[in-house]
Amino acid sequence: MNCLPGETIFRFLEGELPPNEEPSVQDHLLRCPSCRTAVEERKRFIQAVCTLSRWETPPGFTQSTMTRLMIQASSLRIPLLAIASGFATSTLLVFGYLWLTGQNLAGFFLGLNRTFLTLIKTVSVGTAKTIKLFSILAKAIRQLGAVLLSGIGRISDQMSMEFQIFLVLAACVLSLCLFLAIRKKMTIGVKT
Ligand SMILES: [Zn+2]
Repeated sequence: MNCLPGETIFRFLEGELPPNEEPSVQDHLLRCPSCRTAVEERKRFIQAVCTLSRWETPPGFTQSTMTRLMIQASSLRIPLLAIASGFATSTLLVFGYLWLTGQNLAGFFLGLNRTFLTLIKTVSVGTAKTIKLFSILAKAIRQLGAVLLSGIGRISDQMSMEFQIFLVLAACVLSLCLFLAIRKKMTIGVKT
């Protein structure tokens, strides 16, 4: 008789052999040491697989992992909220300033540009005497700034009054929500 194929050995171990095949398999195993070894090896393998599948996470593992993840997520959320609320608040301040002074956004940015240019000029005049390069750099920055700011001004010229009001209201709501959210986060941290 030929040696037992691997599949037969597995089915023998699982007790899935047809009743008429089993006596011949057992008979072969009694006479063939290499097939006995094969059966022993597969038996150990099956036991190892069963032990692995029975392995469980230590008690509280899931909860402690989830808690750790939550802490990491919330510690990231606070600075992000702060940045977003800062952005919303500064948008609000810009629009508030514009409304109080009666300027439009284009005028505001042009004014900002002029202030910026004066600052650059003042600084560059002092240093250009010793460093020529700085004035060239300042000129480049000035031109770049002018292009950028006139671009922003042109965009804001095309914004309707309704859209500007909508932006301000949205910024209002956003800053209020973020402020409340941050305060809630902070108080949670304090209480526990
Ligand atoms: Zn054999």
